[in-house]
Amino acid sequence: MNLMDVNTMFSTDAKCRELLTRLRFPEGPRCLRCKAPVVLLETEKHLFYCKDCDYQFSVTAGTVFNDSHLQLNTWFTATLLLCEAKKGISACQIQRTLGIGSYKTAWYLCHRIRHAMAQTDKPMLDGKVEMDTTYVGGRNRNKGWVAWPDNKEVVVGIRKRNGDLRFFQAQDAKSGTLAKYIRENISEDVEVIFTDDNMANTAAMRKAGRDNHKTINHTAGSYVDGDIHTNTVESAFSLLKRGIVGTWHKISAKHLPAYLEEMEFRFNRRKNSDLFIDTLRHMVTAPVLTFNKLTKGKEAA
Ligand SMILES: [Zn+2]
Repeated sequence: MNLMDVNTMFSTDAKCRELLTRLRFPEGPRCLRCKAPVVLLETEKHLFYCKDCDYQFSVTAGTVFNDSHLQLNTWFTATLLLCEAKKGISACQIQRTLGIGSYKTAWYLCHRIRHAMAQTDKPMLDGKVEMDTTYVGGRNRNKGWVAWPDNKEVVVGIRKRNGDLRFFQAQDAKSGTLAKYIRENISEDVEVIFTDDNMANTAAMRKAGRDNHKTINHTAGSYVDGDIHTNTVESAFSLLKRGIVGTWHKISAKHLPAYLEEMEFRFNRRKNSDLFIDTLRHMVTAPVLTFNKLTKGKEAA
C-alpha cells in the first residue's frame, strides 16, 4: 500500500467507512449495545440501525475517529505516512503535508494514530536475544535538548536476532530494573542472551535466573567476537535516536513510551505489507485516547 493506492482506494468517505466496517466487524456489523445484527441506513451519515434496541451508531462510534472533524481520507493518509516513516514523522510535517488547519489538530491526530500503533500481544523472546541500554533526550524547558545524563531517559532494548524488538522506558539501568525486563520478556528457554560487559547486565541475569549469558567486551574496545555482539539491538537504537533528533525534536519524558511503542510496532512489521491495515484495525478496535488523557499532568509536547 502506498500513497497513490490510499488516495485511489479510499478517495471517498464511503470507501473509508467500508474498510473500517470490515476491520471492526469481521463477521458483519453488530449492534454496539445488544450485539444483534444491524442494517445500514441509506442516509448521508452512514449510520447503522439496530431494530432490536432501536439504536443508531456509525462505524467510528467509540473509536479514535470519533469527535474528529477531519475527513476520513485525511486520517487514512496520515496513518499511511506514519506507517511509512521509518524514523517517524513530526506533527508539523503532517500538518504541512495534509494542509491541516492547526498544529494542535495535527499533533492530536498523530498521537491517536500512534496510540493504535501498539502491539497487543508480546510473546516471550527466545532463540538468540540481544539486550542493551541507551540514553535518549533530556529536554530542559528553556534550553532545548541538553547533554548531561541526569536529564536523560533510560531506554532498554531487547531484540531477538532476525525477530522482534522491544523498547522500554526504564527508571534506571540498575541490575534490579534490568532483571524485571528480562523476566517479563525473555523466555526461560532462551538459547543465549548477548549483552555488553557492563556489570549490571551480569547481575541482572543472575537475579532473573537466566544463566545462558554471553558478553562482548566493549570496555576493551571489542565489538564482535564470533556471533557474540549486540549490533542488531544497537542498530535499532540508532534508528530510534535518529527519529528523536531528526523528526520529533521535542519529546517529553511523558510521551516517550508512546514513541517507543510506535518505533517498535513499525520495526516488528517491517517485512509485513499489512502494516497500514493492521494500524487501521487497531484504530477501530483499541480503547480511545482522549485529548484530556493525553495532556493530563505535564505539558503537551
Ligand atoms: Zn441493539
